[in-house]
Amino acid sequence: MSTAFLTLDGISKRFDPRLTLGDRIAARFGATVEDRPVRAVTEVSLTINPGETLGLVGESGCGKSTLGRIVAGILPPTAGTVTIDGEPVLHNGRKVTTRVQTVFQDPFASLDPRMRIGDTVAEGPIAHGLVTKANAADYVRGWLQRVGLEPDFADRYPHQFSGGQRQRVAIARALAMQPDLLVCDEPVASLDVSIQAQIINLFLELRRDLGITCLFISHDLGVVRHVSDRVAIMYLGRIVEVGSTEQIYRDPKHPYTRALLDSVPRLVLEDDALVEFNAITGEIPSPLAPPPGCTFHPRCPLAVDACRRDVPALMADGTDRLVACHVRAMERNAAATTALEEGR
Ligand code: SF4
Repeated sequence: MSTAFLTLDGISKRFDPRLTLGDRIAARFGATVEDRPVRAVTEVSLTINPGETLGLVGESGCGKSTLGRIVAGILPPTAGTVTIDGEPVLHNGRKVTTRVQTVFQDPFASLDPRMRIGDTVAEGPIAHGLVTKANAADYVRGWLQRVGLEPDFADRYPHQFSGGQRQRVAIARALAMQPDLLVCDEPVASLDVSIQAQIINLFLELRRDLGITCLFISHDLGVVRHVSDRVAIMYLGRIVEVGSTEQIYRDPKHPYTRALLDSVPRLVLEDDALVEFNAITGEIPSPLAPPPGCTFHPRCPLAVDACRRDVPALMADGTDRLVACHVRAMERNAAATTALEEGR
């Protein structure tokens, strides 16, 4: 069994509202002003093994991008630690490693429009001593070629590229920092479907050749299934199920995972069998006022009293899969009791 490369231990992130002067005056005169904190991420503990790609899936607003930014060292958590090979990614709220790099959803927004992309790609490696100024041009040309771009594109500006090419530049910039861990936050969401396939193929090729470990964040279950070794499902700031890609897509245990899979109109598995589950109902609750107990209980067809009262722990189901669900835990306990009785 491999030792964890990335470890997230008890990560929580809360955003406290900043009341403006106007809000404070309005509150003084009796107006209702929203001042509750947003609990974006709550007590997330996860590991990623060396060379593994973990897909992180959930609906918009579930906290997956916030968690990605914490892993990347861009955002400090309110509680908990992120370590790579035992070394913290953050110290006193500041990123202290170059071993983790990020590829964002919108490459246009993440590239400086006034800088030639050669300078953009070279900036980080020069600043961190990975290459000298004298050798930077060749270094950049090598990385551009590695991601399928012409080396001469180094002299161009971001607006001179297509969306797919810009994402290749963003990948080259991240890889030029020689990271061990790549956080990809919806890296193909803003691209046309045909271009998405090209970028995903590039990603798979680079992962195979460079052995990079990856946290791949997406709301697209099809993309995540294609690129991930394991998948973590997130709902309202908490991880509710973690398992191998095969386990999650063939036999989801958590009711929310089942509902998510059901939301894909035609999810065709390798044997061409269509999976049919019950449709999800209701709206995702506000993170300003999450329901007590299991936050999925207002939408869950299996909810029992304990679900409305107690937060379910993320527990192993007898394999290496983790599920946070009272009913599934009860089913496991009942099955274990029956097995014991039959063994007597
Ligand atoms: Fe549904 Fe209860 Fe399981 Fe939550 S803990 S997913 S409400 S059965």
